[in-house]
Amino acid sequence: MIPVKPADNSLSLRLFFEPMLNIQQQSELRILLGESKKIVVTTHNNPDGDAMGSLLAMYHYLRKKGHDVSAVVPNQFPGFYSWMPGTDDILIYEKTAKKIQKLLAGAQLIFCLDYNAIERFGAPSEILARVPGKRIMIDHHVDPSPDHFDYNFSVVNTSSSGELVYDFIVMMGDKPLLDKPIADCLYTSIVTDTGSFSYAANNAKTYQVTAELVSLGVNASQVHRLIYDTFTENRLRLLGHAISNRMIVLDDFHTALVYLTKDDLKKYDFKVGDTEGIVNYPLMMDKINLSILLTEKENMIRMSFRSKGGFPANQLVSKYFNGGGHLNAAGGKSFATMEKTIEKVKEVLPEYRKELDFKLNY
Ligand code: 5GP
Ligand code: MN
Repeated sequence: MIPVKPADNSLSLRLFFEPMLNIQQQSELRILLGESKKIVVTTHNNPDGDAMGSLLAMYHYLRKKGHDVSAVVPNQFPGFYSWMPGTDDILIYEKTAKKIQKLLAGAQLIFCLDYNAIERFGAPSEILARVPGKRIMIDHHVDPSPDHFDYNFSVVNTSSSGELVYDFIVMMGDKPLLDKPIADCLYTSIVTDTGSFSYAANNAKTYQVTAELVSLGVNASQVHRLIYDTFTENRLRLLGHAISNRMIVLDDFHTALVYLTKDDLKKYDFKVGDTEGIVNYPLMMDKINLSILLTEKENMIRMSFRSKGGFPANQLVSKYFNGGGHLNAAGGKSFATMEKTIEKVKEVLPEYRKELDFKLNY
């Protein structure tokens, strides 16, 4: 019989229909986690809120189970996540490469959180691909590349990897281990990866999990303030500058493009995380369906895409701009100059003219 996708979004039905860990793999993992192991938990390059939340939730959970756990990120995370419990323990590859290489080489298990292709681990991904420990992916991005992973807990139709870490803990029979620090991290994952429940948040289950996190002690308004109300004056002025002076509106394609040069960043004393969120602002215009932020880095232009409705930002990025992501939020890079990159965007948009011409109605 061909299974029909249920209208009901309950966890048991969704887990039955989504590709995920089979019963055999679940029991193998339960056995593996049943006795103390050396474990490294990792997340993707340029960690965002979901990366940090799923990483730290897993870190706390595994430590509570009695494992010897290290938490590793490829590069510096934004300061507005430093309040999260456990951030002081995080090792940063761009600062302590040798130590991390040793930890990876000696780990029996390695959790790969919020990324589904080994390259997204950034600089140390070649090392990660070669070490003997078992690699377990927990992720919600489309088109997973399962090479190099021993276990793939990949569920695309999910708010965040944090929600999957919650599912994983429950699947391991460890729901009683959930506590406030874990819940704070998982809540951060969900709230940041859904733009505070404004996208990727149409599953009832996401709210059921969120309700459980709140009942474990999460103070939702406090977490919101800790993440979002922490701007420096420079960061807010950079945002004003970006929208006032660096936004190009391409009416024909319902697209807005914001570009920030190295000089702009220098002028406003750029710190990691300062440009996060800027890409969302142009979408506040009714007429805009696609927003693109170009940020000039040392050797490339970072590209950030956000879209409304069904416009597949990830497809455009994977076709033309060396990246990918989700339907409405994707990222990539360009190795051309800023000018050339803007030209290239203008060149490819006509291909999407029809798809970009829509108005969201009730
Ligand atoms: P952001 O614009 O916030 O940097 O990225 C938005 C989303 O796009 C991320 O959550 C991630 O899923 C995806 N993404 C960002 N950069 C890349 C990249 O270089 N490659 C791929 N495959 N996905 C990316
Ligand atoms: Mn995510």
